Amino acid sequence: MKTFNVPLTYRSPLITAVKNKRRKDDKLKKDFNPTLLNFGPLHIYLARHFGFCYGVENAIEIAFRTIDENPGKQIFLLSEMIHNPQVNADLQERGVRFLQDTYGKQLIPFDAVTANDIVLIPAFGTTLEIENKLKRARIQTEKYNTTCPFVEKVWNRSELIAKKNYTIIIHGKPRHEETRATFSHAAFNAPSVIVKDIGQAQLLAKYITGEKDALSFYNDFKDQYSKGFDIAKDLQRIGVVNQTTMLAADTQAIADLLKQTMITKYDLTGKNIEERFADTRDTLCYATNDNQSAVNEMLKTKADLAIVVGGYNSSNTSHLVELCEQRLPTYFINSEEKILSSKDILHYNFHKKEESLTSNFLPEKAPVNILITSGASCPDALVEGVIKKLLSFYAESKTIEQVIEAFQ
Ligand code: SF4
Repeated sequence: MKTFNVPLTYRSPLITAVKNKRRKDDKLKKDFNPTLLNFGPLHIYLARHFGFCYGVENAIEIAFRTIDENPGKQIFLLSEMIHNPQVNADLQERGVRFLQDTYGKQLIPFDAVTANDIVLIPAFGTTLEIENKLKRARIQTEKYNTTCPFVEKVWNRSELIAKKNYTIIIHGKPRHEETRATFSHAAFNAPSVIVKDIGQAQLLAKYITGEKDALSFYNDFKDQYSKGFDIAKDLQRIGVVNQTTMLAADTQAIADLLKQTMITKYDLTGKNIEERFADTRDTLCYATNDNQSAVNEMLKTKADLAIVVGGYNSSNTSHLVELCEQRLPTYFINSEEKILSSKDILHYNFHKKEESLTSNFLPEKAPVNILITSGASCPDALVEGVIKKLLSFYAESKTIEQVIEAFQ
C-alpha cells in the first residue's frame, strides 16, 4: 500500500517497529493475533491492526502539504478533517479554520470564503449541495479534496444500483459527515433512506411488508429519507450500502434482515432475488474490517482490561469499544492524560456521551494484562503515550527501548 508523508510527531518508534515486523512476517495479512509487548510486570497485547488508515494518512498528507505550499493564504476545512482532536487542533494551530462543526452547524458563513481561498474537503467527503455551493463561488477544491477513495467507492456502488432502479438503503449514523455525504450523493440518483441500526431496519421491514401504516414512515424516518420519497412505490426494489465504519456484525444482520423481508414479501428464491434486492455486499472499508477482526482475535487473549484510544466522536473507534466492552472492562480514552494516576482513569462512555471516572482500574497483581487498540484516525504516538503512562506505574518494568529491540 502507498506510504504517506505525515508529520513525525504522529508516529511512534515503538509502534512503527512492531507494525513493520508484523507486516514483514505476515505479508498476506493472515495472522490476526495480537502482539505481546512483555514489559515484565505489565503485559500489553496490541491488536494486529489499528491506527491511521489509508484515507486518514492521505488526508493528513494533503492538508499539511497544502499549508506548507500556500503561506499567507486563507485555508478552510469544511469541518473536522478526521475525528481526532489532536490532528484537528494541530491544523487549527497552523491557521486552518473550520467552516462547519461536525454536525453541519455553520461556524463561518460560506460568504466569507473568496475564490482566492482554499477549502479542504475532509476524508468523509461532503454533500453535493456544499460541492455546488463551492463551485458557484468559484472555489477550487479538486486539488484539496481529501475524500477517502473508500468513501467514493460507496458512492459509486450506490450509483450502480440506482441505475438499476433500486432504492438505496444506507446503514449509517444519520448525523455523521460521511453518511450525510453518502446520502446526498445517493439521493441524487435514486430514492434513499438512512437506517441507523437494526431497530430501524426492523421498522423499515414493517413498512415493506405493509404491517405499519405507510403515513407514519415520514415521522419514523424524519430527516432520513430523500425528497419526494414515495413509500407506496419506493420500497419495492432495494439495495443496501453502509457508512464505511459501521460494526460488521450489525451491517450483516441488517442486510440479511432486509433481504429476507423481500424474499418473504415477494415469494422469491435465490434465483430471482435480484428482481427485488441488489447484491451489494457490504461497503465497510478494509480498515474497519481489519481493525474489527483484529479486536475479535485479540479478545481471545485472557486479559484484565482493554484500553481503546481515539477521538470520542470517531465512529470506527466507538465500534472497537463496543466489541471490547462485551468481554472485559474497557476504557475509551483520547490521550494518556486521561490516565490520571495508577488508580484513576477518566474515560468516555459513548452510550451516555459523557466522561466518567473509574477508580482502581489497574488490578494489583503481576503481570497485569492489558489489551490495547486504537481507531483509524488515532496517531500511533498517542498509543505509545498511553503505554508510557502505564509503564510509569511499574518501577521494575523493562524500558520501551528494550522492548523495541525484540522487533528489530
Ligand atoms: S476508515 Fe476507511 S473509509 Fe474512513 S478514511 Fe479510513 S480507509 Fe477511508
